[in-house]
Amino acid sequence: METALETRDDSLDGILMARLARQRQHQRYRQRATTTGIGPRFQRAGREMLAFCSNDYLGLAGDPRLAEALADGARRFGTGGGASHLVCGHGEAHERLEQRLAQLTGYPRALLFSSGYQANLGVISTLLGRGDMALHDRLNHASLLDATRLAGARLERFTHRDAGDCGQRLATLAARRRTLVVSDGVFSMDGDVADLGQLAAQCERHRAWLMIDDAHGLGVLGEEGGGTRQAQGIAPDRIAATVGTLGKALGTQGAFVAGSETLIEALIQFSRPYIYTTSLSPALAWATLTSLDIVRDEPERRAHLSSLVRRFRHEVAGLSEFDLHLMSSDTPIQPLVVGPSWRRAPGERGGNEAAALALAAALQEAGLWCSAIRPPTVPEGTSRLRFTLSAAHTHDDLDRLSSVLFDAARRLSSKGRSA
Ligand SMILES: *Cc1c(COP(=O)(O)O)cnc(C)c1O
Repeated sequence: METALETRDDSLDGILMARLARQRQHQRYRQRATTTGIGPRFQRAGREMLAFCSNDYLGLAGDPRLAEALADGARRFGTGGGASHLVCGHGEAHERLEQRLAQLTGYPRALLFSSGYQANLGVISTLLGRGDMALHDRLNHASLLDATRLAGARLERFTHRDAGDCGQRLATLAARRRTLVVSDGVFSMDGDVADLGQLAAQCERHRAWLMIDDAHGLGVLGEEGGGTRQAQGIAPDRIAATVGTLGKALGTQGAFVAGSETLIEALIQFSRPYIYTTSLSPALAWATLTSLDIVRDEPERRAHLSSLVRRFRHEVAGLSEFDLHLMSSDTPIQPLVVGPSWRRAPGERGGNEAAALALAAALQEAGLWCSAIRPPTVPEGTSRLRFTLSAAHTHDDLDRLSSVLFDAARRLSSKGRSA
């Protein structure tokens, strides 16, 4: 494979193989693991694995009531939409789901998209064009950055969760061009939450628009699972567009944008990622209505999830003794950052990437699955294990996780090794 580099083979395979080889050299080569069964208890390569890395926060993806509703929806409306929404692919199930999603998020109207990636592209490319500006929180999801680039808009970033910095940048920008401020509700790698009230106030002062991607907040945060906005008690009309996904807490697939009548009408008319694609499966739309019933009728799922978050943080706080540090998060996304004493070799870049991998491997050895997140996904020196908790986990699952973590920390840390 390396020979492609040397021989400068300019065939398609030669060029791609050289790129793949560079990816391997930089230790960024990714591989998929094939699982069977229903999470968080999978089988993987013939082994039982308990996963702490899925976004199925309410444990609905494997709920038999959703499977039943999906089959029912397929019998009533078909498995596929068959056409785009504007041709003849917009069915009764889609219409009802849009109404329920608007209700859940507190907006006048909502519009379905096939994925969160597409929804973000659909909103940003409709609101912004060449020369306009998107001002992003530094830790926003990749799909928001891609959407900005594909829209041809200019991109600037403000300091993570710093509405003051956002306001200062707006003061110099907004007068000159149309500006959209964009932020995740709950941040996917850190698990912390944007202050929507402060962001909205800055946008109001500087006449900018605000868009929130609440992929990780919807169904999880807020009294009724209405998301970050509901949890913070912010009036819906202070946020021009809220994106939510169906593939995380709601346990199905797809996404939506919620906003004013005018915003949704404009998306229907102008949003190319909405117009030129086949509608979401009507069977999935039907099944998602059952998810929304469960989100409404079983608040105990959110309560259980909160109790798991508290217990996890209580149980593993003591790992700081081994230079492993919980980030400050009270959402189901719980990162554990590997401190500088884990540096294996003095010259190692960032310092702790290998250690994060070694810890994840030790957990895997014990049948526990979490992701080791390293640069460039997170800043140098902040490599981490990222745990996501789900209402499908039990307190016993957490006890097991914590005991394996302490055991691995003792065996692998410099402290443990020198003792
Ligand atoms: C998962 C995610 C998306 C993408 O949603 P999909 O429906 O999986 O395409 C967008 N934004 C954020 C913040 C996400 O976490």
